[in-house]
Amino acid sequence: MLGGIQNSKLLVTNLIDHAAREHTNREIVSYWADGSLTRSNWGEIGVEARKFSQALQKLGMKKGDRIATIAMNHVHHLATWYGTAGIGGVLHTINPRLFEEQLVYICNHAEDRVLLFDKMFTPIIELIKPQLKTVEHFIQFDGEKGEYSTYRELVDAEDGDFTWVDVEENDPVGLCYTSGTTGNPKGVLYEHRSNVIHAITEVQPDVMDLATKSVMLPVVPMFHANAWGIPFAAAAVGSKLVFSASNEAPVLWKLIREEKVTHSAGVPTVWLSMFADMDTNGGDYGDLTTVIIGGSACPRAMIERLMKNDIRVGHAWGMTETSPIGTTGAYPANWDELSFDEQVDVICMQGRPPYGVELRVVDEDGNELPRDGESSGTLEIRGPWIIQRYFQADEDAVGEDRWFDTGDVAVLHPDGTMQITDRAKDVIKSGGEWISSIELENAAVGAPGVAEAAAVGVYHPKWDERPLLIVVRKPDSDVSGDDIKSYLTDKIAKWWMPDEVIFVDELPHTATGKILKRALRDEYKDYKLAGVE
Ligand code: AMP
Repeated sequence: MLGGIQNSKLLVTNLIDHAAREHTNREIVSYWADGSLTRSNWGEIGVEARKFSQALQKLGMKKGDRIATIAMNHVHHLATWYGTAGIGGVLHTINPRLFEEQLVYICNHAEDRVLLFDKMFTPIIELIKPQLKTVEHFIQFDGEKGEYSTYRELVDAEDGDFTWVDVEENDPVGLCYTSGTTGNPKGVLYEHRSNVIHAITEVQPDVMDLATKSVMLPVVPMFHANAWGIPFAAAAVGSKLVFSASNEAPVLWKLIREEKVTHSAGVPTVWLSMFADMDTNGGDYGDLTTVIIGGSACPRAMIERLMKNDIRVGHAWGMTETSPIGTTGAYPANWDELSFDEQVDVICMQGRPPYGVELRVVDEDGNELPRDGESSGTLEIRGPWIIQRYFQADEDAVGEDRWFDTGDVAVLHPDGTMQITDRAKDVIKSGGEWISSIELENAAVGAPGVAEAAAVGVYHPKWDERPLLIVVRKPDSDVSGDDIKSYLTDKIAKWWMPDEVIFVDELPHTATGKILKRALRDEYKDYKLAGVE
C-alpha cells in the first residue's frame, strides 16, 4: 500500500523557483574583481537562469552535458548554476588554484563542453586551451569583451521564456573534483535530490541557522564543494546573499559592515587575515552573529575571539564527498549550564551530525569502536548526501552497507560529538587546499644528493599546515635545503614549496619498507617553523 501524499520531485530548479516567487526582492549583492558592486535579487536570478538555459540550448547543450566554470563567487556564476540545472545539465566547478596538468586532466575527464571563466583567469585558459579535448565554447563571465563571447551577450540575447527540462530527482546536477586523495583527482557527482536535502538540512538552527532575514557572505569559494551548498540553502529560505570575488580582508570587512552581513562561512585562514586587518585598522564585527568555519580544524584562539564577541562559531567538518556537511558545532542541550571555557572546549571539537548523516569509527579490521571519547579509529560516514561512486569510476566508493571511509581519524564522544584526531590520508592542507605529500616526496627524491624524503604537514598560524620536508642525504652528499628547493622550483606548484627542509640520518619504516608517516607526523607534530610563534 502506498501513502496518500504527493510525490513531488526534489529538484534544484524548484529551489530557484521558490526563491524567485517567495523572496523576489531579497537581494543578491556582488562585489566584482574590478572593484565594482552590483545588486540583483532572487526574482532576477530566476529570470536570468532561464535565459542562461536558453543560451545553453542555443549552443547545442542538452541534458547530462557538463558545463564548467573557473570563477570566483558572483551573481553570474550563481545564475549559471541554476540555468545549467534548468536544461538537466551538470555544472562542473573547477578550482583555479589547481595546476596545469590537474586542470587539463579534470576538464578532459569530465568531458566539459562549455567553459565559463572570469577574466582574471584568462592566462589559465590560454595555458590549458590547446590541451582540452572536449570544450567547444569558451565564455568570459565578466569584464570587457575581447577574444571570447561574454556571458552578458549570450544571456541578453534571450527572453527568459523557458520551461525547465524535465529531469528525475536522482539525475546529476553538479560535479566537483577532489584532489584530497592520492592519484588523479576524483569527481563527485551531486544529484538534484542530494543537493535539495542538503540545502534543507543546512538552514537548520544547529547547522548554518539560515533564515529569510539572514544575510550570508560565503567566503568559501563556489568551486569548493558548491560553496558548502550555501547558494542552494540560501534559496530555500530566501536569505540575502553577498558575494565577493575578492578575499582581501578590507573588502570583506567593508561588505560585512555595509551590507549588514549576519552569517559567513570559510576556512580558518580567512579569519586569521580578517583578525590581522582588524587589529591594524580597527573596526567592529558589524551585525555578524554566526560564522561557519571548517575545511581544517578551527584553532581554539579563533573560536574564543569570535565567541567573546557574541558570535556563534559553527565548527563544521565535511568533505567534497559529503556535499559537504558532515557535522557542525551544534550546541548541546546543556550549553547554557557550561562555563565559557567549557563552551569553547565543545566548539573546538567538530560537532554532531544533523539528521540524515550517520557516523561511526572503526578499527583496522573494520570493527565499530565504542563512543567513549577515547577509542580512536577511521571515521566512516553514510547518508543521503554522501558519495556512492566517483564520477565514471568502475565501482562504488563504499561497500554494501554504504559506509564511506573518510580517511580521517577520529573519536566519537558518548553524546555523539565527533573529534578529528589525525588524518590517515597522506596529504597536507594549506589554506584549505591540498598538497599531496607523496607527489612532493617523489619530486624531492629526484634532487641530486637526496636518498630519501618525507613530507609532513606542520602547524602554521596562517595556512593551518605547511609542508616540512625531512631528507636523508646520499652518502658523501652535502646537498643543502636551498639546493633541494631550487631543484623543486619548476617541478611543483609554488605554494607546494616546503617551508623548511631538515636532514636526518634515517627515516622510520614499516615492515614492508614504506616510510612510517604516522610516526613522523607524531614526531614532528610540535615542530616550529622558523619565525612561527
Ligand atoms: P575537502 O574534500 O577538500 O573539502 O577536504 C575534506 C577534508 O578536510 C576532511 O576529510 C578533513 O581531513 C579536512 N577537514 C574538513 N573540515 C575539518 C575540520 N573542521 N577539522 C579538521 N579537518 C577538517
